[in-house]
Amino acid sequence: MDIKKLKVKPGSNVKLVDRDADDSYGYTKEQAEQELQKQQARLTDLQELLYAERKHSLLVILQAMDAGGKDGTIRHVMSGVNPQSCHVTSFKAPTAEELGHDFLWRVHKAVPIKGNIGIFNRSHYEDVLVVRVHNLVPKSLWSKRYDHINNFERVLAENSSMKILKFFLHISKDEQKKRLLERLRDPRKVWKANPGDIEERKYWNDYMRAYEDALSKCSTEVAPWYVIPADKKWFRNMVVSEIIVEALESLHMKYPKPIFDPSKIVIK
Ligand code: AMP
Ligand code: MG
Repeated sequence: MDIKKLKVKPGSNVKLVDRDADDSYGYTKEQAEQELQKQQARLTDLQELLYAERKHSLLVILQAMDAGGKDGTIRHVMSGVNPQSCHVTSFKAPTAEELGHDFLWRVHKAVPIKGNIGIFNRSHYEDVLVVRVHNLVPKSLWSKRYDHINNFERVLAENSSMKILKFFLHISKDEQKKRLLERLRDPRKVWKANPGDIEERKYWNDYMRAYEDALSKCSTEVAPWYVIPADKKWFRNMVVSEIIVEALESLHMKYPKPIFDPSKIVIK
């Protein structure tokens, strides 16, 4: 898959209606599942290298509408990853303490250390999404956050050698309805159902506008956004894993050389 097609070109204007959430670029389910397996194996090796070298870290940011597939993506794409050097942070509505700080305070504390993979299930982007849609802070505050976010992400990339990948899992409104209904009707899924999600769905168009702005204003060379067609879970999993693998390969990591001569060591 030519993943450049899914990258938001820095400075471009994203229109989500122009992007088909159901697209699979000619791939069949079987092909995509095979490809995913290949990428999972490569990711296992690349993670080991990342940890051994400890020069870079990887931050994967996942954003989506409710039932958009953030949890499923983590489960499938990361299934070959060693949990010892990988950490998932789920960002919920901020606590009173978090609200007493700037919006990036809780986020900065959660970014991965060199050698590690960090996954954000929601992120600082909620502060220009749900916060904007529901006017949780005045426009004069949230409208400055796009610049704050770009500056913050540049610090992470340039000062901490962090590879940052941001995925918007793009589902259609119909697919969301299908998945929300499935949650309500399947006894094994009903624990995930949240009447608040049905309420939130009424703001779909406002969310799309907020997403378009976040994607357009905050896709940069050091922290690009990818819009992932996500109605087909198997396609979503394949491309997210491909993008992660390609990003790690672009780092040209090497196992560190030992500071001693292993051939001179004798074990009796
Ligand atoms: P879930 O991911 O389904 O567990 O839901 C987490 C909830 O936290 C979502 O409704 C988010 O919109 C909400 N949330 C996350 N970050 C923020 C934030 N910065 N401000 C307000 N709500 C947030
Ligand atoms: Mg939810």
